[in-house]
Amino acid sequence: MRSASANTWEEPPEMTEPEQIDIAIIGGGPAGLTAALYAARARARTVVFESAMPGGQIVTTDWIENYPGFPDGITGAEIGDLMHRQAERFGAEFRTFASIESIEPDGLDFILTNSEGERVRTLAVILATGAIPKKLGVPGEAEYTGRGVSWCATCDGAFFRDKVVAVIGGGDAAVEEALFLTKFARTVYVVHRRDELRATKCIQEKCFANDKIEMRWSRGVAEVIGEGGKVTAARLASTKGEPDELLPLDGVFIFVGVEPKSDLVRDLCDLDAAGYVKIDHNGLTSYPGIYAAGDVTDSDLKQVITAAAKGASAAFEALRYIDERACAI
Ligand code: NAP
Repeated sequence: MRSASANTWEEPPEMTEPEQIDIAIIGGGPAGLTAALYAARARARTVVFESAMPGGQIVTTDWIENYPGFPDGITGAEIGDLMHRQAERFGAEFRTFASIESIEPDGLDFILTNSEGERVRTLAVILATGAIPKKLGVPGEAEYTGRGVSWCATCDGAFFRDKVVAVIGGGDAAVEEALFLTKFARTVYVVHRRDELRATKCIQEKCFANDKIEMRWSRGVAEVIGEGGKVTAARLASTKGEPDELLPLDGVFIFVGVEPKSDLVRDLCDLDAAGYVKIDHNGLTSYPGIYAAGDVTDSDLKQVITAAAKGASAAFEALRYIDERACAI
């Protein structure tokens, strides 16, 4: 091969044989961390690949009060850290801050390549990539992201001390984060497109009892408005034909649901219409050797407890699958 820099001939780079592991877990949220705990404890060589730090979406959740075993509640960051340490204690390895870019079947194995170009060969894959927050897709949203528009109250809430913010959405995430924001903000508007919240009743009760929260029913954000590089208002459009409202604001927190991070397996596994990975009750996808768990899957209940439980099932089934493979040789 002729070198571009010098007019010399070089040997082509040798493709080194990828490192062999038993179970690759893609994603380090509750589903991936629990799968890692079960797989490593069963003495499978288990590696968790995570594009950020271990913990997943819960790290950005202020307070979790419905995970059993913590009667007084626990912060998302703390539970993420505990799950990470527990999996590591049993020998799970963690490769963080590099994302898996491709999964290529090779016989019964899979070759995974990460964003650094490193490759591993694995006997089974557990996809636990979770979901990412949806965007509104309105003017001003992208322009003011990080300058008043946020998707993480835990990360950015403290910047809004004594300010006025709006939370968009009516689900568990929106209402819980609105409650969290009342620790800092003077007023928190909850802007919801219907006249009834979707959030769990006990979260709704806290919301309605909080003096700092004001509801803006049957309205959606038509535009985020700013001046001098920061958010100053949002234009709210009525879903009931009423006139638009210009709401002066310092921040807009968007919690209008999530979308699954399933692109990696789009060409390998069956997805539902919304892009969630279809699994059977054991966590097996439509592709032999690929399992999935947590928010990336088409399971109904999306909670920390269900992600953890499905992570355990997926690991159990992946272990059984690699044992059966070994016996068949
Ligand atoms: P979600 O339950 O899907 O709620 C999304 C909310 O955003 C809904 O109120 C929806 O309105 C609204 N919405 C959707 N698209 C919109 C748009 N384009 N413009 C304006 N509003 C829009 O999503 P989530 O709250 O992020 O929760 C995701 C999952 O995690 C859920 O299963 C939830 O139960 C779970 N979760 C649980 C907890 C907990 O248990 N503590 C905490 C957080 C999340 P409609 O109601 O009209 O559809």
